[in-house]
Amino acid sequence: MARVAGRSCIVTGAAQGIGRAIGEALLDEGAHVCFADINAAKVQEVADANAARAAATGAKVAHAAVDVTDRDQVRAMIAHTVDRFGRLDVKFNNAGVNKPMNFLDVTEDNWNFIMAINGLGCLIGMQEAARQMIAQGTGGKIVNTASIASRQGFGNVAPYCASKWAVVALTQSGARDLAAHDITVTGFAPGVVATEMWEQVDQDLMAIGAAERPGQAMEEFSADILKGRVATPHDITGTTTFLASRDSDYMTGQIIMIDGGMTLV
Ligand code: NAD
Repeated sequence: MARVAGRSCIVTGAAQGIGRAIGEALLDEGAHVCFADINAAKVQEVADANAARAAATGAKVAHAAVDVTDRDQVRAMIAHTVDRFGRLDVKFNNAGVNKPMNFLDVTEDNWNFIMAINGLGCLIGMQEAARQMIAQGTGGKIVNTASIASRQGFGNVAPYCASKWAVVALTQSGARDLAAHDITVTGFAPGVVATEMWEQVDQDLMAIGAAERPGQAMEEFSADILKGRVATPHDITGTTTFLASRDSDYMTGQIIMIDGGMTLV
């Protein structure tokens, strides 16, 4: 419990998938968690569903509707969290999107949509969290969600890969620029995780003729995973709670791969 108990955390993209699991794992260890997402109704449901879980560890739970590309909304989310929990200690920049497209067909709209949420959203989230931590004078931790697509290019998802390489760059640059304020910046890079994201990715891959049926892409990826299966969100949360905890205080600028041995880089 002592690792993160009483810490004030925000997780974006927390209405489902990896973000929800990150938040729930933090609550289980007594951290206060603001679940934040662009899907206002769903993230409120998630927070409500976690009231008993929070009570079990003495943690507090909050929620915020936020578009991570909108600086004013990000500021309001942080202000809400500080109002509820007294300060901000840990900020997870986890919201992300993918929209597969054949390389030659990638449009400016596709590029801008993905880069805005995965890239600019990460930058704004880091900046505004850091401003709050600096104002508090407490230091803090920023944790970014990268991907195996941060380390190599994959077919039909070039803008997504570019956006996730950007997350690595922001993590490393942020670590350098924020170190003087005792703010660490780390990230984690999941491999293939069974979440709702894949339902849309499957549809998009089929629409461009890159898959014939739902689940095909995941099956093909699985063949390259040393663990022999794709991940569940709960395969990710041991690492994310560690990155939110004092146990990782001496780490900054690093990305931890959590890919079942898929990439070995
Ligand atoms: P998901 O689609 O299940 O959940 C993403 C959440 O982000 C959704 O609740 C969505 O509403 C929210 N979101 C989207 N745009 C937003 C915005 N502008 N502002 C705020 N919230 C927004 O996805 P997931 O699989 O849980 O992925 C979470 C993160 O992990 C993403 O950054 C993704 O790129 C990354 N990732 C996922 C996988 C995987 O296989 N699932 C692998 C590597 C990395």
